[in-house]
Amino acid sequence: MSSGADTGQYRGRFAPSPTGPLHFGSLVAAVGSFLQARSVQGEWLVRIEDIDPPREQPGATAQILAALESFGLEWDGALLYQSSRYDTYRSVVSDLIRQGNAYPCTCTRSEIRAHNLRHTGSASTRYPGICREGVSHPGRRPAIRLNVPSVAIQFEDREVGSYCQNIAEVGGDFALRRRDDLYAYQLAVVVDDAEQEITEVVRGQDLLELTPGQIYLQQVLGLTTPDYLHLPLVKTPAGEKLSKQTGALPLDLARTPELLHSALAFLHLSPEAEQRHAAVTEQLSWAIDKWPDRSCGSTMESASGGASALE
Ligand code: GLU
Ligand code: ZN
Repeated sequence: MSSGADTGQYRGRFAPSPTGPLHFGSLVAAVGSFLQARSVQGEWLVRIEDIDPPREQPGATAQILAALESFGLEWDGALLYQSSRYDTYRSVVSDLIRQGNAYPCTCTRSEIRAHNLRHTGSASTRYPGICREGVSHPGRRPAIRLNVPSVAIQFEDREVGSYCQNIAEVGGDFALRRRDDLYAYQLAVVVDDAEQEITEVVRGQDLLELTPGQIYLQQVLGLTTPDYLHLPLVKTPAGEKLSKQTGALPLDLARTPELLHSALAFLHLSPEAEQRHAAVTEQLSWAIDKWPDRSCGSTMESASGGASALE
């Protein structure tokens, strides 16, 4: 696995979706990716993944950015808004169709589930390629899907270790553009990690399962594959991923030192109890020094990745 930019400069990123304010789980992802970058004097960029307006919350981007600032998480360079990238996504998708690597699909999610139930006994949303030879419902507005062969994609995650997945068995022909015309996360993340010359992606383990599909798409597009580090997920007491849906509270910005202290403890940095009230900048510079070097395959305790929104 190679590192992206030709300069050898490390470049990481935090890529929040503005579906709500930052919560403790997203703070951990932000802090983990920030420390990993800063501990090697690398750059740390922020990208706003605002490609799904129906799921977005007005004002969330401003709230997220204000929260990052109050935690002392200063980013480099300009913010990249995915909503400014539609022309690029459109041309990447057209090229893929022209090359025979992607095709239109008119199946609805419930039709896919019903098809899978009939053929495999399980109502999964894995797409089995029904429209590969022609759309199932010619009158309908189509999604665009990637042709995914039965191939095992293996990579070395810096947290989890070796990870291998047959991408046809998990997501099948995943969507690049949805039937509602919105571009899919899988497409946008791959195109923009390349655009920003990200050398390493540090994010939560909820996205581990989607990574082999991203690597496959990078290969089809002739892009460099970055390194990956998937951080353990913050769970609710019931064991679910902490998210807005599972009741995560917005972070109380009047308590940033205490919250940062908890995030550092979650990341196994074992801060002393009295650091709890130290200024965030002081806690961060301490953490940058203490952050372990994972580049030689050392792994820390890891939780298993949860399932996620494959379609
Ligand atoms: N925007 C995604 C999220 O908030 C994260 C994307 C990524 O880090 O690859 O879950
Ligand atoms: Zn279809």
